[in-house]
Amino acid sequence: MTTPAVKTVGFKPRERNVFFHILTACNLSCLHCYINPAQHGSTAVSKETMAEWLRLFLDPDKETNLIFLGGEPTLHPDLIAGIKTARQLGYRTVTVDSNGFLFHNLLAAIEPRDAVISFSLDGPAAEINDPIRGKGVFATCTANIKKAVALGFDVSLIYTVSRLNIDHLARMPALLKELGVKRFFIQVIGLRGKSAAYPDDTLQLTPEEWLTVIPRVARQAADLGIHVIFPKVFLEEGETFSCAGKVAENYFIFPNGRVYQCPLCEDFPLHTFTIDNNRLVRNSGLTEEQLFTLDIAEGCVMNKLLQPGNIRYDARGKPLTRISCCLLKQELRP
Ligand code: SF4
Ligand code: SF4
Repeated sequence: MTTPAVKTVGFKPRERNVFFHILTACNLSCLHCYINPAQHGSTAVSKETMAEWLRLFLDPDKETNLIFLGGEPTLHPDLIAGIKTARQLGYRTVTVDSNGFLFHNLLAAIEPRDAVISFSLDGPAAEINDPIRGKGVFATCTANIKKAVALGFDVSLIYTVSRLNIDHLARMPALLKELGVKRFFIQVIGLRGKSAAYPDDTLQLTPEEWLTVIPRVARQAADLGIHVIFPKVFLEEGETFSCAGKVAENYFIFPNGRVYQCPLCEDFPLHTFTIDNNRLVRNSGLTEEQLFTLDIAEGCVMNKLLQPGNIRYDARGKPLTRISCCLLKQELRP
């Protein structure tokens, strides 16, 4: 097979992405969980609220993509109704991001055309995955991936790369091929929720680790016929920096009514909007929007605030690398 070229996927002006956390509860307790109950609450949206908010965020003039998230979204008894409502309303794509447990018999309750199922797995075997995500999770998750693929669902997989599992990433392409997964999202460990509490070198990768390992494994997966998507992270010489908060439409909705435009801001009360009586109200005071306007040589302002150690400087204080928006992706298509 011809080796494909890596392509940066720019932000699309007529696209809207809606990341809807319908609850924050989860049956697992992953080491790097990004849910922060102090900021995101511990409630679930009701069936009626779910439908109202789905109406609120659909823009019929744009290609609107919906991702149901949690916590574990399949724990919500009304997820299935939410998927059907989103389809009727006209969302272009609907994805359910699941830890693999697929509660409420999800696969039997919807059709493959209703939603893409995106599973999370952080290792190619139980010995790697389960210390991160929980005992028995690898077996359950891979069994449900097989079931979903056999039923004809479009299945993706997200692997969050950290110091704990980077050495095992290279074994993932073969596993994905065997399982029948079509799309592979390689995600970088974030600095949100529980991950933020660890000392810097416990989970976080160095730029060298990321740049050496990720593109190589992505290429291996693409060579096996798998569509691979991974964050850009470091901008190359001459590449323009863009903050998605300024040039794209992304809404990260939490059940307590907070709506962020930047996932890196989710640990702070910096949300741009609050949903009040099913209306989207722009917040006053300091919000993430003010941060988006800051133009700094390092690129992403939030990365500079949260992870200054990731940026190196020359003798004159000029950054040697610029950090891209965390929402800027690269892809390799088979
Ligand atoms: S499955 Fe997701 S929500 Fe649940 S503990 Fe793991 S990271 Fe957190
Ligand atoms: S990650 Fe950085 S560049 Fe992207 S939206 Fe947030 S602040 Fe802007």
